[in-house]
This record gives sequence, structure tokens and C-alpha cells, in this order.
Amino acid sequence: MGLDQAGDTRLIKVGRGLLSGCGDLLREALFADEDQPAKADERPSAAPSASARPAPAAAACPASARQASVRQSPSHQRRRCLVVADERTWQAAGAAVYRSLRRAGVELAQPLVFPGQPTLYAAYEQAVAVRERLRREGALGVAVGSGTLNDLTKLASGELGQPYAVVATAASMDGYAGFGAPMTVDGVKTTLPCPAPRAVVFDLDVAAGAPSAMAASGYGDLSAKIPGGADWLLADAAGVEPLHPLAWRLVQSGVRDALANPSALAAGDADAFSGLASGLLASGLAMQAYQGTRPASGAEHYFSHLWELDHLGQDAEPLSHGFKVAIGTLAMCAFYEAFLARDLARLDIDDAVARWPSWPEVEADIRARLDGPLADKAVRETREKYVDADGLRARLRRLAQAWPELSGRLRDQLVPARQLQRSLAQAGAPAHPEDIGLTTDDVKATFPKAMYFRSRYTVLDVAREAGWFDELVDEVFAPGGLWT
Ligand SMILES: [Zn+2]
Repeated sequence: MGLDQAGDTRLIKVGRGLLSGCGDLLREALFADEDQPAKADERPSAAPSASARPAPAAAACPASARQASVRQSPSHQRRRCLVVADERTWQAAGAAVYRSLRRAGVELAQPLVFPGQPTLYAAYEQAVAVRERLRREGALGVAVGSGTLNDLTKLASGELGQPYAVVATAASMDGYAGFGAPMTVDGVKTTLPCPAPRAVVFDLDVAAGAPSAMAASGYGDLSAKIPGGADWLLADAAGVEPLHPLAWRLVQSGVRDALANPSALAAGDADAFSGLASGLLASGLAMQAYQGTRPASGAEHYFSHLWELDHLGQDAEPLSHGFKVAIGTLAMCAFYEAFLARDLARLDIDDAVARWPSWPEVEADIRARLDGPLADKAVRETREKYVDADGLRARLRRLAQAWPELSGRLRDQLVPARQLQRSLAQAGAPAHPEDIGLTTDDVKATFPKAMYFRSRYTVLDVAREAGWFDELVDEVFAPGGLWT
């Protein structure tokens, strides 16, 4: 699964009935360095289901063990862990993980179990609380949960410079194996840098027993890899951001299969979770291999981020990442259909260059659509991908030349928006803007903002550079469209 290319993660185990034996896996992954001090930098083979190596007796190699003791903190030597859960995940898996770790000979601190209600938020103060518990206990963290519990433990461990592991409780998002933790700091949502987990254990029975909305959310997040991948194909063809073959393969090779049976996921069929879980984990590994998020996201994610900044769904029960991404994904698939109905090879490049706005005009447009710090950020981000008239001419020529082959690759990559809409609905994910409390006009108004939001080059940029942007957006929302 690409573990040999992943910077941080050494063990990924996906399967049924894993909880009772996960203690051994976690112990070996978390404490392998001191078990095998001479081989501390060696990676295990790439097999996704490979167990960690057997642990030799530490006393067999006293000299190396002494060296290791210089490098390792006391927690490593004492093989002590702190299980971090909330009341729900403790019940679903945490207690079993705790027992399994104890059977595996791991010394355990009193578990840190957050209340199940109200829903735990990824706020920096919470990560500090986890960090200080870990420090006091001299323990390595084992997160038992999905998004927030993983993010808190990931950041807390990263700040202490120590590894951690996560036992997944839901197939809800692709952040398990990724680095960085989305976190609210002083009321502002940001992503703080920190390493990915050393080990991920994903028990399909636990995921299948989670509330069905969680798998629906993961399904939405995974569906984003379809238009997101198409965006990368375009950026590659435009000479803006070349494909990374391994990261591409990791994410894209299993996506179709993983999305093939949405009804079985909604029905809680544990075997059907295998593809979804593997796909979500592979996205994280691809981000590690690429050292960036491009393999896992394109413009569809910017719709979600913008709506989140607008505080959409931040009521009692927050709207999941995957649910917002699902609507962004449908919007982008519909946009691609309008885009592919045109022939870029026959674009009048002179005309497009003549109509290309100057940078001050672009900046004025950004500031007319976005406010405050968000506008400032969008200006900086858009400036990075803005080219002058000569640059535009070169880029459009390159794309026009590539178009006969490129358009075929894009068609192979994409799925019809209506088909994806049906699949999302079958999975229990949103399929209409109203499902997440938006109108079609809201989605329409998000298109230009999503284009300006980040420096990442997507089909929205290509459309704008070709002079088609407004027309294509109008076509998505014309009568007879996906939502109209
Ligand atoms: Zn995502």
C-alpha cells in the first residue's frame, strides 16, 4: 500500500475481528525502535496487511539498547500507552483495545475518555489537554476514534515529538493516515503540522457498526478523488504540477471499486467496508508520499472549506467534512461535463489572451467576492497561479495541443454527475444542496470563490483562462441541470 514511501506510518492493518489482537500489533509498531535498536531506521515491506516484525528480547543486545536509551524518552523504555477515546468510541472499541494492549504486556495509564456529549471539537486547548496527560504519564498515545480524537492525539504526540497509533472506529474521512491536524486555534480553523500515525488499525466490524452517516461521509470524501484526480491531470498537462506516479496510483487505483457498492455500506455490511477503508487510508499514505494534499483533493474540497468558513452546519450536531465535500464533488463533476462538451483544441487563443484580465482587475474581483482576511489570503493564493498574457498564451497552447489525448483521459477519470449523485444517495450521503442546508444559488456563488481560494490549479482555472468560466457555471445551473 505504499508504506515504504510513507514518511511516518509503518503499520496499516485493515480487516475483520482485529480488536482482540491489536495490542500486539500496536506494541510492536510503537515500540519497535527499542525492540530492534540497530534497525531503527529500517522500514517494513509494503504489504498493507503485514504485521509488525516479531520483537526480539531487548536484553539480547545490551550495547545497542544503551544507545537506544539515549535516543528514546523514558516512555518508550517503559512501553507505556495512554488510550484516548470518548464515551462512544470507548464503548465501540476502546475497552477492547485497552484489554488487548494489557494482554500484550503494555503498561497502561488510566484511559483518557472524553464525554460523548456534546460532540468533541478539534480545538487546540483539547490537544494541549491530551499532550499534558501524555507528558505526565510518560506514555505514547493510542487514539480510538475517527476525525477529532485522531487529530487531537496526532497533534499532542507531534508536539511531544513521539509516535502515536490510531484504532479507527468509522470509515468517515481520509485523515487517518495523513499528516497535519485541522484544529481551531483562537476561534480560527487551521491545519497544524504534525506527523502521521506510526500505526493504523482499522477493524471493519467496528466501522460497520458505527452510525451509518459516518460511512456515508467517508464515501463523500472518497468520491472527491474523482474530480480531484481530473484536476491533477489538467495541472500536469498544463505544466503546473506534474503527476506523482506512486501517489496517483495509491489514490486512484482503488477508487472505482471502493465506490461501487454504496447500498452495502449503508446496510452496514462489514465486508463491503474493505474497499472504502483501504481507499481512505491510501489517500493518507499518498499525501505522505507526496508531502502535500494534491493527491487527495481538488477544487471540490474548496467548496467544503468555504462553506465551513461560513459556519455552515455548525449547530448542535456539526455537518461532516465528507457531506460538504459530496456536494462540492457533484458540483465539480457537473462542471466537468460542461467543460468537456467544449473543444479546447479549437479555442481561439488570441481572443482568450486579448480578454485576459490584468492582475489589478483580478484582485478587484476577488475583493468584490470575499471579505477581510479571507480576501487577503485569496489574493495571495491566486497571485501564485496568475500568469501574464505571454504565460497564458503558452499555457493555452500547451493544453490545446494535449487536448485530443487529455480529453480522453479526463473522460476515463470522471463519472457522470447523475450516476455519482445516485450512488451518493444510496450511500446515505447528500445528493442535493438542500441536504446540507444550501440553495443551488449558494453553490453557484461558491464557484468563483473556490477558484480564488487556493493557489492549486484546477479545471476552474483552465475554464477561466479559456474565457469560459461564467458560461460553464451558468450551464451547470441551467434548466435540466443536475439540480435545476
Ligand atoms: Zn477530504
